[in-house]
Amino acid sequence: MNTCPHCKAAANPLRLLSMTRRSPYRCSRCGGRSLLLPTHNTIAALLTMAIVILCAVALPRLGIPKTIGCFLGLYVCVVGGVMWFFMQLRPVEP
Ligand SMILES: [Zn+2]
Repeated sequence: MNTCPHCKAAANPLRLLSMTRRSPYRCSRCGGRSLLLPTHNTIAALLTMAIVILCAVALPRLGIPKTIGCFLGLYVCVVGGVMWFFMQLRPVEP
């Protein structure tokens, strides 16, 4: 579970997903900025690889449009889960 390192408020998962490397997470309560850093890099990499392989296997059976749909759905779920459980917010100096 991710919390703001400045005020310990629970982090908004939607904000985490829309966060990029260039624009760090901004807490909705205190406005403090923090970066999401992986605590278990290997697990995230393995999960991403598993999704890509799954989609490659499904491609001939489902066709391209369905596979892209499945891929996006899986990717958002798994990446969201990985960010939530395996990554931690670290404070950034303003
Ligand atoms: Zn905060």
